[in-house]
Formats: sequence, C-alpha cells, structure tokens
Amino acid sequence: MAAYEYETHDYDVVVVGAGGAGLRATLGMAEQGLRTACVTKVFPTRSHTVAAQGGIAASLGNMGPDSWQWHMFDTVKGSDWLGDTDAMEYLAREAPKAVYELEHYGVPFSRTEEGKIYQRPFGGHTTEYGDGPPVQRTCAAADRTGHAILHTLYGQSLKQKAEFYIEYFAIDLVMTDGACTGVVCWKLDDGTIHVFNAKMVVLATGGYGRAYFSATSAHTCTGDGNGMVARAGLPLQDMEFVQFHPTGIFGAGCLITEGARGEGGYLTNSEGERFMERYAPNYKDLAPRDYVSRCMTMEIREGRGVGPGKDHIHLNLSHLPPEALHLRLPGISESARIFAGVDVTKEPIPVLPTVHYNMGGIPTNYWGEVLNPTKDDPNAVVPGLMAVGEAACASVHGANRLGSNSLIDLVVFGRAAAIRAGKVVDAESAVPATNTAEVEKALDRFDGLRHAKGAIPTADLRLEMQKTMQADAAVFRTDKTLAEGVEKMTGVAAKMGDIKVTDRSLIWNSDLMETLELTNLMPCALATIFGAEARKESRGAHASEDHPTRDDKKWRVHTIARIGDTDVALSYRPVIETPLTSEEEGGISLKKIAPKARTF
Ligand SMILES: Cc1cc2nc3c(=O)[nH]c(=O)nc-3n(C[C@H](O)[C@H](O)[C@H](O)COP(=O)(O)OP(=O)(O)OC[C@H]3O[C@@H](n4cnc5c(N)ncnc54)[C@H](O)[C@@H]3O)c2cc1C
Repeated sequence: MAAYEYETHDYDVVVVGAGGAGLRATLGMAEQGLRTACVTKVFPTRSHTVAAQGGIAASLGNMGPDSWQWHMFDTVKGSDWLGDTDAMEYLAREAPKAVYELEHYGVPFSRTEEGKIYQRPFGGHTTEYGDGPPVQRTCAAADRTGHAILHTLYGQSLKQKAEFYIEYFAIDLVMTDGACTGVVCWKLDDGTIHVFNAKMVVLATGGYGRAYFSATSAHTCTGDGNGMVARAGLPLQDMEFVQFHPTGIFGAGCLITEGARGEGGYLTNSEGERFMERYAPNYKDLAPRDYVSRCMTMEIREGRGVGPGKDHIHLNLSHLPPEALHLRLPGISESARIFAGVDVTKEPIPVLPTVHYNMGGIPTNYWGEVLNPTKDDPNAVVPGLMAVGEAACASVHGANRLGSNSLIDLVVFGRAAAIRAGKVVDAESAVPATNTAEVEKALDRFDGLRHAKGAIPTADLRLEMQKTMQADAAVFRTDKTLAEGVEKMTGVAAKMGDIKVTDRSLIWNSDLMETLELTNLMPCALATIFGAEARKESRGAHASEDHPTRDDKKWRVHTIARIGDTDVALSYRPVIETPLTSEEEGGISLKKIAPKARTF
C-alpha cells in the first residue's frame, strides 16, 4: 500500500477545472451561498477557453431579426439530429440571458454604432428555420472572446469568495456507494497530496483534442475528467464524434477562427476556384464545419490542393479592407504571420482541417447531472457528480457542433449546474467523511505510475496513440481503417502496462503528470475508435465512406461506452425527442425539427 500523507479539505462543492465552464459554475455555486472550491491544473486564465476567438452564439437580434426558436432549429440541424431536444431548447432559450449576464459581469464585447453588442455571422446559423438568409448571431469581443470571458469570470468568482486551488492536478474521483464524495489531487509545486471531500463534484476539465496528432487545442486538453469517470466505472457518450475545424494553419495546427469566413473570407483550390459555391450553393464558405472539412478533403484528394505537395487549401482575406482586419481579426492576422509567415492583407493563409472539438463526453442531463444509463432508466443520475463544458455531453452538439455554440454551452450549463446545485445541495448538512479506502486506491495507482519501470517512455506511447488516431479516425472513415484502428489502438493501450517514468520526484514532475494525462487520453481514444467502428452510418462529423447515408431508424441513438484497459463495451441510449416547451406554449413546432436530409 502506498504511504502518502494527505491533507483534507471540506466543501459543499468542488469544481475541477477553471475554463469558461468551470468558472461559470464556480461563480454560480458561490452566488448560491455554497462553500465552493475550484481546483485547476493550470492558472484559470490559461485554460483553453482563452484561445476561443470567434465568439458566443445567442439570438439577441442586434443586427437583424432573430429568435431562440431559429437558433434551436440550427442547433438541431447542425447536430445532424443526434442532440437531445430538451437540452438544445434550454441552450437556445437561455442563451440571451447568459450573454447579458456576462455583459453585466463586465465582458468587454465589441459594439455596434448604437452601442449594442456586435454580432457576426457564423457557419450554420440561419433565419426562418433554415429557409432565410444567414443571421448575425455570434457575439464577439474582437477575436479574443474567450480571453475576455475568462478574465471577467475569474474576477467575479474571487469577488464571490470562491476559493481557488491553482496548479493542483486532480488524479481520481472518490466514489462511495455509487455516489461521488470527493476528489484526490496532487499539488504540483510542492508534491503534497490533497483530498477534497464534497457534497457535489463538478467536472469541467475540457476536451481531449490531444488524443490526435494535429489539434487546435492546448497541450493541456487531455480528457482528464473523462478518464476519471471511466476509471470510476461510469460510461462516456458519443465519443466517435470528433470535430475537424476547416481552417487549422497548415503544419502548425493552430486555429484561424471561422469568424474569418464570417467577416467575408473564402476558401480556394489550386485553380483559384471558390469551390464551396459548388458544394453549398446557399451557405458557401459558411456551411457547417463537418461539411466544409469534407469538401476541402475531397478537393485535395481530387488533385486540386495547393502548395508543392498539393496537400492543403487557401483561405483568402486580402480582399477585405485592412481596417476591418485590424478591428475585427487582429489576433488571427498575428497568428498567420507567426505560424505561416503570411501577411493576410496580401497573401492567402495555407489551411487544413484539424481536430478541434469533442462532441462526446460525460453524459449529463440539461442540469449538468451526470448520467449512468441502465436498461430500465436511460436517464439515471449519479448522486454527487456533475459535468459541464467540453468534458460533458448534454447533448446539445449531437454529431456536429456549430461554431460559437460551445462558449454559450459553457455559460448556459455552468449556470444551470449552479441553479440545480442550489436546489439539491444542502449547505447545512455534513460534508461526507473521507473515504480512506478509495483514497488509498487512487494513491496506489498514482504511486504505481510514479515508479513505473517499463520499457516505453510516455512521450513515445503518446505519439503512437496520436498517429494511430490521426490515421484511422480522421475526416473520412472506412470499415477497413476503423477495424484496423480498433486493433492498433487495443495494442497501443495494452502497452500502458509497460510504461517507463524516469523522474520519481513529487515536485514539478512533468514526466509523471504527462503519464497521468496519458492514462486519461487512452480511454478517450479507445472509446472514440470503438464507437466509430461500430456506427455503420454517416452522421455529422462521423463520415463513413462505406455507409454514406444517415440511418435514423437504427442509429438515431447515443453511444454509451464503458471502457476497460484495452476494450470497450458499447450500448445505446435513445435520443431525447421531447422539447421542454410545447408548441401551444410558444415552443418550437415538432414538425420543424423532424429529421430530414441536411442540405446547405
Ligand atoms: C483554438 C480554439 C478556438 C475556439 N474558438 C471558439 C469560439 O470562438 N467559439 C466557441 O463557441 N468555441 C470555441 N472553441 C471551443 C471552446 O473554446 C472550448 O470547447 C471551450 O473553451 C472548452 O471550455 P471548458 O471550460 O470546457 O474547458 P477548458 O477551457 O479547456 O478548461 C479546462 C480546465 O480544466 C482544468 N483541468 C483539466 N484537467 C485537470 C486535472 N486533472 N486537474 C485539475 N484541473 C484540470 C484545466 O486547468 C482548465 O482550467 C475553440 C476552441 C479552440 C481550441
């Protein structure tokens, strides 16, 4: 048994993660009068949310007519009919409220001439239930929206006396009789161990983009919450749906926001053709991401890619007035210069579809409560555990997320989780006692990794996983590549037992931290490839060349993945089709959101 001493801390609520979702939840919980701690492995304002450039969707109607029902329709269609209808309604309906709250908290949004919040067009956001022209729905603080939101929410959380534990790495959940009662953490700068006992634990740990070789996400996006949940014997949902963003900078992988196309930028092939006009006559370059990424890949495959290797595409902005670029897209002009050596006022940016977002994650209801679906109750709740943000799957993005719908997901569901916790957490009751047996179990695993004496360095095994995922679970998938991928990933995961950690220190030990992160990425990668191999249809981001059409009869279901060391057991849970508000009460008409072919 590992002999580690640990300090215990008692709270009503412990939030793990200080990105947009974690901070909005932390602030909301503290406002509810709950004693709240926020634990984070990086400084709050360095969370990946800081990189969100484009903006946050809400039907404010500042630039022309808009409604939450139109926003909901676009989200349903964008999800390729895999989202849960109640959650999608909640997102679209609560979005304006959540954005005005951000405004009042102090987010410095860009403004129109009249002083209203400025909104720009984004892919897949339309009017008149898709029959009208594109809408300007995406609220922005220039191209630094995520940065502005994080700084504001962090300041407000401090004001509400939430307590922050910064550069603490959460290792594992503590589960007691099926309920979550705390989390075990390692303090990175002095090597001490801390056990947080809580009535509610909220996972807001972000996505797992780093399971792939080329991703727009930060190196910290390693699916830690997902890994903790999988180890606790709980399932993950819809992990096969991984979004490729059309415009990652070729080579570097970092993002050029869709806002660049929203402001009038367009894609061209080696013939200088604006090819999206051919594939999507209505929405052109602003068709949803899964579709644009596939069109770009087809152009490259048919020999019309640009560059010496004919292996990428051009994004043109040089026709836009330099003042507009300076005012609305200053950050991306800088990224293009630094990472591609391109002056956007004169030359096109070389781009390629790049892994960007995980639609799947920890299954929750629209209050953020984590689900452990059973045959009898597909919506059974795990007591004491919530998940919000990219780590969670509520599910509002279904098979494909619309641009600017993630930032709004963070704040709407961060806020919803706080409202719910205000009801289900009793501030007067006792905090659960430390479950020493479970804590010891987590520390044994930690100690085992710390002293791992195998043959394969963590960085090598991570690279093997990333290359496998990039090759076999990419934009286009076939039965053959997926079957091979399952076999290869099973082999890669089996090598976890032969991992080698060279640094035994407990202080600033990045070797050990990256190994812990790899133990979280691995179940994510396994669930992604097993789920993709099993799903014999094409839907949203999951495009199978052998099964090119969507099959609503058989496959309009969420994948539920229970993950072992090297294998995954899959089952399925029905999509929730009932909205929260009936048509008579002003809700959306069921006819409007009935599944149909997705055309652009
Ligand atoms: C480059 C880029 C641009 C984007 N632009 C937009 C956009 O314009 N609009 C939009 O809607 N969406 C955008 N997205 C998507 C969106 O930004 C993300 O989905 C969202 O920010 C995720 O927020 P989060 O709060 O869930 O997680 P993150 O912001 O990733 O934060 C995760 C937090 O969890 C903590 N954490 C993780 N693991 C542990 C652990 N083991 N222990 C302790 N703490 C831990 C981290 O310290 C961090 O604080 C963009 C994404 C990228 C990558």
